[in-house]
Amino acid sequence: MLMPLRLAVLIVLFFAFPAGAADRTIYLTFDDGPLTGTSNILDVLEAEQVPATLFMVGMHAQANGLNKALVQRAKRMPLVTIGNHSYSHAYNHYRHFYGDTEGVVADMLRANAVLGLKPSVHARLPGRDVFRLLSMSKNDTSLGLAEEGREDPDYEFVAASGFYLYGWDHEWVHENSGKPVQTVDHLVSEIDHLFGYGRFVKPGKLILLMHDEMFQDVFDGKANLTALIKALKLRGYTFGAISGYDG
Ligand SMILES: [Zn+2]
Repeated sequence: MLMPLRLAVLIVLFFAFPAGAADRTIYLTFDDGPLTGTSNILDVLEAEQVPATLFMVGMHAQANGLNKALVQRAKRMPLVTIGNHSYSHAYNHYRHFYGDTEGVVADMLRANAVLGLKPSVHARLPGRDVFRLLSMSKNDTSLGLAEEGREDPDYEFVAASGFYLYGWDHEWVHENSGKPVQTVDHLVSEIDHLFGYGRFVKPGKLILLMHDEMFQDVFDGKANLTALIKALKLRGYTFGAISGYDG
């Protein structure tokens, strides 16, 4: 007996688009570049043709000719968004940095100038898992009480100065040397688990935090990132550009 056409269409659709695939979007984000590792990231993004955001540090962008060239190369790539990750990266003294809201804004604006970014700018504050977007806002829940009191800049003021602020849902962690902690397989199973059981800042959307230094040759950066992206593609995840995150 012939199958009714409508049922056949449904079955084809089911296999072409596994349940919820469209609602499982991963936002690849790379912080702290340009650094050693950045060129490998760009090579892989180009080869795999997936969107990603590089939250760059102004000071690193102007450190030398090589880094300047990396910024220019990233800018020419249609799938790459350059985000602002401050000028100074707080010189890694967060307490001092975040005690002064206007200083934070000045530092962020300086990075806009160095990176050639115009408002409104996609940004991530150094060391802060904070969101300030049109549709939502979230504070960094990892801060202790002491830090909350002393290191609480006025994030609304920072955002109002021309920034969309993005934190993250999950991190591919690295050691101090930059060496990745999780294997690619482990990270992929963590991501599967999160989509199965986790709660994201926005349902069905996972912002993955990584750092450029993890993708140096010495850590097999190119092979690792390629393996990650290929594994996620195989599982039916979609990759999103950060400009569509808040849509
Ligand atoms: Zn950073």
